[in-house]
Amino acid sequence: MITIATKAQMRAHTAAARAAGRRVALVPTMGAFHAGHHALMRAARAACDELVVSLFVNPAQFDEAGDLAAYPRTGASDAAEAEALGVDVLFAPSAEEVYPEGFATSVRVEGLSDVLEGAERGPGHFAGVCTVVTKLFNVVAPDVAFFGQKDAQQVAVLRRMVADLDLPVALEIVPTVREADGLALSSRNVRLGAAERERAIALSRALGAAEAAIGGGERDAARLREAAVAELNAHGVEPEYLALVDPDSFQPVHTVNGRVLVAVAARVGRTRLIDNALVQTDGGDPTRAPTTTKEP
Ligand code: AMP
Repeated sequence: MITIATKAQMRAHTAAARAAGRRVALVPTMGAFHAGHHALMRAARAACDELVVSLFVNPAQFDEAGDLAAYPRTGASDAAEAEALGVDVLFAPSAEEVYPEGFATSVRVEGLSDVLEGAERGPGHFAGVCTVVTKLFNVVAPDVAFFGQKDAQQVAVLRRMVADLDLPVALEIVPTVREADGLALSSRNVRLGAAERERAIALSRALGAAEAAIGGGERDAARLREAAVAELNAHGVEPEYLALVDPDSFQPVHTVNGRVLVAVAARVGRTRLIDNALVQTDGGDPTRAPTTTKEP
């Protein structure tokens, strides 16, 4: 594995790989690798010839300075883990390399960026994500990029962006990797104290309660929401939001019929956690969105 820190070198590397007929995959990350990141890298490794993992803690997508400052940074072990998983290139640019002086452009997906995570974290969050992902796509020029279902709204926003801007990249979405008790893996989980870690299972339990109720035939979103919130409250957790939405438009669903996304965000102590469950009521595969970007 080689580590590349400049855009010029990264471009040259992809150009050479492509000239050699190699299919290039990108896994964008902010580091502090856990088994969720590993799953993305494994899926990408199996799907391409040249595997690039980017590691950049993107200041533009943080809405709280404290969250950015406290974000775990474990560069040395990240590099060792990436190498062990067969990554070819770790692209780790500095903030100055990504955002040189005078940088003034923002990529913004209207509507989708403003609800749930966008409403809680502010309009800058998804603009920060979209801007940096556009830059990564332009610099790395991958054939395919891998993202986690854990960040379901990010997936919807990026699918919209790729379609709207005709970006020549296919998106592949990897299911959420969880701890044995159901807690979705997140780089922020390391901040949970022992008692908070116990309470944090509330989020996946709440999603499980909604899924079980759907399985039991309940279709009314308000009653499904009640069942999920009751599970959160039983663990002493108050949701920032708990919503049943269309997985592509993120518009509220009132009666479940077909694919629905149950999405939750909550603070456990000082740590903000998110999770979601995609549920299909008509027997299809909920992970296959009708708008999945086709390979160019
Ligand atoms: P991050 O480094 O947190 O920005 O995450 C990098 C990528 O890993 C994103 O596409 C996330 O959606 C994905 N990811 C984070 N946590 C998980 C998880 N528990 N399971 C699967 N993918 C994940």
